[in-house]
Amino acid sequence: MFDNLSDRLGTVFDRLRGRGALSEQDVRDAMREVRIALLEADVALPVARRFIDAVTEKAIGQDVLRSVTPGQQVVKIVHDELVEMLGGESGAQAEPLNLAARPPVVVMMVGLQGSGKTTTTAKLAKWIREKHGKKALMASLDVARPAAQEQLAVLGTQVDVATLPIVQGQQPVDIARRALESARLQNVDVLLLDTAGRLHVDQALMDEMKAVAGVSTPTEVLLVVDSLTGQDAVNVAQSFSGEVPLTGVVLTRMDGDARGGAALSMRHVTGKPIKFAGTGEKLDALEAFHPGRVADRILGMGDVVSLVEKAAATIKEEEAEQLARRMAKGQFDLNDLRMQLKQMQNMGGLGMLAGMMPGMKKAKAAMAQSGVDDKVLVHMDAIIGSMTPKERARPELMNAKRKKRVAAGAGLEVQDVNKLLKMHQEMARAMKQIRKMGGFKGLAAAFG
Ligand code: GDP
Repeated sequence: MFDNLSDRLGTVFDRLRGRGALSEQDVRDAMREVRIALLEADVALPVARRFIDAVTEKAIGQDVLRSVTPGQQVVKIVHDELVEMLGGESGAQAEPLNLAARPPVVVMMVGLQGSGKTTTTAKLAKWIREKHGKKALMASLDVARPAAQEQLAVLGTQVDVATLPIVQGQQPVDIARRALESARLQNVDVLLLDTAGRLHVDQALMDEMKAVAGVSTPTEVLLVVDSLTGQDAVNVAQSFSGEVPLTGVVLTRMDGDARGGAALSMRHVTGKPIKFAGTGEKLDALEAFHPGRVADRILGMGDVVSLVEKAAATIKEEEAEQLARRMAKGQFDLNDLRMQLKQMQNMGGLGMLAGMMPGMKKAKAAMAQSGVDDKVLVHMDAIIGSMTPKERARPELMNAKRKKRVAAGAGLEVQDVNKLLKMHQEMARAMKQIRKMGGFKGLAAAFG
């Protein structure tokens, strides 16, 4: 996600930060590069222009340039504007779904064919069942695409959420009515309606959406769009929001989207918040969209909060708390790294975590270059396992002789040991930096 943009901005800001003093011209030059980076990330032109104007004005207008750390301050301004662009802090509410209404709360899913709508419906049903402990029911109103209703039924068994029995030949509005009826009878908390897609936005589709919304009075109307389609996704969102009362957007295939233009333009162009991001084909590959965290990720600050949350979901609460506290204090030794490595495999391997963890991105790129994949996790675990507890706590104790022994113990080469130590060093340094910048705010609180 946002890999290219992140790399480009990283280069620009490294240069800015490296200088003690900044002139107005330095800022303008940097902003020209940022503008190009945004456009290459497929951000809509008016959005990019507004962004640059806002940052330039703030950076030049105040006492930023005369401050002791002008580069750092400019990066902070860019960060805050990025958050704004992605939907603002108000978009960072802990709970993206409004499920407080009287049950059954109706969540209507709309979108074009192939956008990932059916998959996302099942992901959300799982989310609602697991994170909210609520009883959900899914119903497919897609009578246009062959086997669409069966597809949802199959996904339903996978996520352990009931689906409305299929009645052949029934039309969408009637299915919606039957689903509501059934939800009431079975004391369902949340009813998810997976509506029909089309290849293009057309009037018949819009009329159908309106009719379904009319009989089901949804609390949430979520538009599912494919982030890989870039500005088309934004245009689709605009067409839909003119016709049905959208409450938010779900961007799918964020896992494959290195550019991120749709995510960056969506809020400004459509006025609709991005509520979720789909990050893979698996049914747990769904993330709540937090503008602040995404901005952190784009600026290479690493998304430590998401990481720790993910860890908390897969590892023992005790361990998660310990990890969060230690990270919040800027402590990060090889035992911590080892604990994380162990969880990585459970959490979907390196691909999933790269970019989330500070310093991890560079390490991953280096590993990819030397042709290493997820088995590197196993290797790293073996290396740490061959060290003494003292060395794990204080890796700087490792001298050439010990490195050789440890490598032999793990069945690997000395250079593998060096790589691991270097990666750990980079991560530890990045964590300290984040801590200095106040990026851990709320993390300690979240874990008491
Ligand atoms: P629909 O026609 O909109 O209902 O689309 P589907 O739900 O059938 O999804 C189409 C394809 O996209 C399926 O193969 C899904 O597994 C895949 N897909 C959906 N969401 C994501 C995502 O977030 N990431 C990736 N990589 N694939 C996804």
